[in-house]
Amino acid sequence: MLNDPLLNMTLELYGLNCKDIDEYSLQPIDKKHGHWQLNVRLKAEYSPCPVCRQENPRIFGYYTSVVKVNLMEHITMEICVKRRRYRCRCCHKTWTENNPFVFKGQQISYGTVINILEELKNPEVTYKSLGKRFNVSPTTIQNLIDTHLDLPEKRPLPEFLLIDEVYAFRDSESGYVCVLMDGDTGIPIDVLPSRRKEYLSRFLARYSPEERKKVKYFCSDMYQPYQDIAQLKFPWAIRAIDRFHVFQDFLRMTYVTTRNGKSYWKTRRLNSSLIENKNRVIQTLKRNANGFTNWDRFRSRILYVLDPDVTFTIPSNPREERNRNSGTQKDESQNELKK
Ligand SMILES: [Zn+2]
Repeated sequence: MLNDPLLNMTLELYGLNCKDIDEYSLQPIDKKHGHWQLNVRLKAEYSPCPVCRQENPRIFGYYTSVVKVNLMEHITMEICVKRRRYRCRCCHKTWTENNPFVFKGQQISYGTVINILEELKNPEVTYKSLGKRFNVSPTTIQNLIDTHLDLPEKRPLPEFLLIDEVYAFRDSESGYVCVLMDGDTGIPIDVLPSRRKEYLSRFLARYSPEERKKVKYFCSDMYQPYQDIAQLKFPWAIRAIDRFHVFQDFLRMTYVTTRNGKSYWKTRRLNSSLIENKNRVIQTLKRNANGFTNWDRFRSRILYVLDPDVTFTIPSNPREERNRNSGTQKDESQNELKK
């Protein structure tokens, strides 16, 4: 009975499955533009009274909530959830059953939250365009970034530390975003709002001498503060000066100065696509932020876009949680009154 791909796709988005469905109907509102409507009633929960904990409430009526979600680029689903009103047999308190299609505390659906967070991985996507597409305010999107991205507090320093900057914006402090990255993988360690020495020093002060000892190669351009930092924080590391700033066939020619002052040319394998990508991404994000005001959020977005391992977490859906925990469903035919 539940073999409609659109229905299954919708349920999956919310961590639900066909066992949660009591009855449903699915029909196009506007087939040409991909607008569909799902009318659905979920199986009854019969949770105890939130006031007196009395079990087995009466069903008192129904209340329909409407949630819109973009299932795919060109398919919009309007979900009309028929939610039961319950009434306590003892204290007469009434309440409405949970709506698993709505994200907790916000009037947007779980699916929309997931879609927005996934879309934000794409640097071309702006708050404005996302807001328009999902019918939410840019502030809501900013809140999602602040709340749900899983950014590591502090990343370990790599063996090959590469410091580079991207000219990204002009403000009173600096016109550069300074990027510290793993030169072997191209994964960012962190980004700083300035390439000035104080910022770099303060950032590196979070690492113990043991942690800094892991850095064997230090690569940057000739900018004096970088050289000072290398001398100060990584005196043991082999310093490589990015001589050409060109990348060919994943090979980068570097001019290496060792501790005893000897210099020689060396090539080192670099994932140049990641490094070039990084510059493009940061500039795009800056352009799209259209005068951002919040550095922390800008940093979060940069790290989210540049690091494939950075993901997001959202609180699980109450019904999904219950499915996982119990796996048992009440047979509601015994309990439910005829509407
Ligand atoms: Zn009660």
